[in-house]
Amino acid sequence: MKRLVLKFGGTSVGTTDRIKKVANIVKNRHQEGNEIIVIVSAMAGTTNDLKEKSNLISKNFESKELDVLLSSGEQVSSSLLSGALIDKGVKSRSWLGWQIPIVTDNNHTASQIIQIKTDEILKFISDGGVAVIAGFQGITKNGRITTLGRGGSDLSAVAIAKFFETDSCEIYTDVEGVLTTDPNIHEKAKKIEKISYEEMLEMSSLGAKVMQPGAVQASMIEDIPIHVRSTFSDKPGTKIISESEIDYKKTVTGIAYSKNNAKISIVGVVDKPGVAADVFEPIGKNNINIDMVIQNTSLDGKTANITFTIKQEDLKKTLNIIEENKQIINYKKITHNDKLAMVSIIGAGMIASPGVTHKMFRSLANEQINILAISTSEIKISVLILEDMTKKAVKILHKTFELN
Ligand code: ADP
Ligand code: ASP
Ligand code: MG
Repeated sequence: MKRLVLKFGGTSVGTTDRIKKVANIVKNRHQEGNEIIVIVSAMAGTTNDLKEKSNLISKNFESKELDVLLSSGEQVSSSLLSGALIDKGVKSRSWLGWQIPIVTDNNHTASQIIQIKTDEILKFISDGGVAVIAGFQGITKNGRITTLGRGGSDLSAVAIAKFFETDSCEIYTDVEGVLTTDPNIHEKAKKIEKISYEEMLEMSSLGAKVMQPGAVQASMIEDIPIHVRSTFSDKPGTKIISESEIDYKKTVTGIAYSKNNAKISIVGVVDKPGVAADVFEPIGKNNINIDMVIQNTSLDGKTANITFTIKQEDLKKTLNIIEENKQIINYKKITHNDKLAMVSIIGAGMIASPGVTHKMFRSLANEQINILAISTSEIKISVLILEDMTKKAVKILHKTFELN
């Protein structure tokens, strides 16, 4: 007998008909003699609708109340699935995060799981019941409801797999698995059979929505293999596993992109120690994430320009922060661009293959795509380009690195 975690995403439980279909999948896996814990996301669109409602009340809706609001979506889907299972003759019950409890820190809207109590659910599943757990949510030690960041049901699944010491963690979604790129941008995207935790972490952090980055990071730390697979077919999906179990035949495993990036250049800062710290400290304190950073020295060697990228939604706030700190930073002028995209190639195979960088840049140049900034790590190269060039860039890179 095996103990399985099966997580179903928003599209998979998007309608009551789909919930009945999911109940059939769960019932079959249960009848094979497995102990089953199911995690569900909210029905597709629900979390966005709730978020929009909060925006209509206030653009600064309080984060603790936002968590109460957003977590309600998973209450609906977990009870509907449990009800569907009971209707099919399967013993089942739903649990909300606070009922278990799934204890988190109090970083509202992006909480981390600290502890999960297991005894009640373990007894229920060993007595033949299917436990259905509302994903994406937890509770602080002070009894306040929290959520785990967008896409956070993936993290719920990994954490449940860890605390319940399950034999597998399966993420059921609306695509065949992790693909070489987003199928919405390129019809030639192909299923990847095996991908390392590290590569998957880069893919999701750089825009591949299929797994939440926090969930991948947790699975990497705990070495919990994940199987990403389709709710709508029986075919095996993608195994996210340790790098040592993969034999790399290709340099590049996948291509990710993110839109809505902005770039700010601070021109003419004095070239001396501490300037970059003066620029980034107030930005960091305001919880604004910086992606790429480039600093170049002017010809006279006395002044420098600092360029960096952020999310478009943070542009106004960041410009204000820099202007407020003009006295300390001491610069000549600021320029900015928005509507930029970051396109990245990711692959552990890059480590052993020289020439990837120029191959990437040359193929973009041949398509007249201008590179505005570059950042690299051992297993990825990212470039910043104009947003309307995204599709073209992804397609040419997909071809160049033989993923078609
Ligand atoms: P779920 O609701 O099941 O959690 P998500 O919408 O969060 O599903 O993630 C699945 C979606 O991620 C896919 O439908 C696809 O549009 C998108 N996606 C982006 N990049 C990739 C990729 N490389 N592989 C697979 N899906 C991707
Ligand atoms: N419902 C939440 C969201 O839309 C969590 C999830 O889908 O994983 O972000
Ligand atoms: Mg998701």
